[in-house]
Amino acid sequence: MTTSALGEPCVLLKLGEIVLKGKNREVFERRLIGNIRNALKELDLQVDVRQRHGVVAIFLPEGATVEQADTVAQRVADVPGLVWIHRAWRVPKDVDSVVKAGIEIVRDREEVARKATFAVRSRRRDKRFPLRSNELDRLVGGEINDLFGLPVSLKNPELTVHIEVDRDEVFVFTDGIPGQGGLPVGTSGRALVLMSGGIDSPVAAYRMMKRGLHVDFLHFSGIPFTTSESIYKAYALVRKLDRFQGRSRLWVVPFGKAQQSIRSSGQDRLAVMAQRRLMLKTAEEVAHRIRAEALVTGDALGQVASQTLQNITAQDNAVDMPILRPLVGWDKTEIMAEARRIGTLEISELPDEDCCSLLAPKRAETRAKIEDLKQIEKRLDAEELIVQLADSIQEYKL
Ligand code: ATP
Ligand code: MG
Repeated sequence: MTTSALGEPCVLLKLGEIVLKGKNREVFERRLIGNIRNALKELDLQVDVRQRHGVVAIFLPEGATVEQADTVAQRVADVPGLVWIHRAWRVPKDVDSVVKAGIEIVRDREEVARKATFAVRSRRRDKRFPLRSNELDRLVGGEINDLFGLPVSLKNPELTVHIEVDRDEVFVFTDGIPGQGGLPVGTSGRALVLMSGGIDSPVAAYRMMKRGLHVDFLHFSGIPFTTSESIYKAYALVRKLDRFQGRSRLWVVPFGKAQQSIRSSGQDRLAVMAQRRLMLKTAEEVAHRIRAEALVTGDALGQVASQTLQNITAQDNAVDMPILRPLVGWDKTEIMAEARRIGTLEISELPDEDCCSLLAPKRAETRAKIEDLKQIEKRLDAEELIVQLADSIQEYKL
């Protein structure tokens, strides 16, 4: 496939929910473009990100290769707010060039060899272009049909050639890769994710980034009574998730001593819940300090004893800040499939010594009473303990 016959390789992005925004749309688009530019910084390639009506075009430097355009497309596919990423050809704005590009884009495809069905779909964002969309469809489709003998199927084509006439150029492309959907990170505010080394919390973090939150991560380690393994896991998970938002920070709380006090306070069956409330209270204090407006956990209703409705109620009662639980209605199998898709599952499945295993009682309470938990907290002098814990956090930079 020669570059010259087709034009210049570029990347065309289709926006998702943003297009439903009314007056705020510009704010969302501006944030999205900033996020795209940030994501592309690591590629060390001079790109030009332009906003067009309803789409974003990424132009590469002169002489850029198809492989470089593919790399750009792969990278932006992880940026929330986009539904489709197309590797496209930027073609001069005249009918001849467009027809030629339509032919060339089909020429080397495997669909030609097996005489697959095809369709041409044109759109004019610039109505001054001499041909209307359906005229362009018929012209280019006719040429492809004549040259390669591919049958047309408008209803269910196996190959679609897209032609989009823009202000300064025409984009010609075929299939694309699906984006993450959702909203641009940062448009919904900031939150703090309680990040274990488990399967659920990384997925919860991803789902909230996708709804426009920029998140920090807070991990409670059993140190000094456990090894640092869980911290490495949390770190590896945050690294894996960083490609969706950038500028991720991991904070670690040495939690072992606090857990020991919970255990020695008696109340075996309530230990897990007492610990969970202490984690949430500490997280709320940290969130205030880093200006996060909500907490995020990987809870799913009924998955384990601490996630019954009554116990979730007792957790909500521990803090004033909203606790977001994006996985509340998800099955474990659904969560695992998502974890596999975003690449966190294999890290989560590595063995570690979770701090929670330090106080796994034989039978955990599924109906914890808030009054009983408050009693335990009084004995622990929780108010004081929370400040100490928040003071002792360590930041792990990526
Ligand atoms: P996960 O797979 O996310 O660990 P889980 O099914 O193991 O979840 P729990 O261990 O009960 O469930 O934890 C529920 C939620 O509490 C987690 O999703 C996470 O948000 C938070 N959490 C649990 N342990 C920790 C920890 N050590 N550090 C930070 N947050 C934690
Ligand atoms: Mg866990």
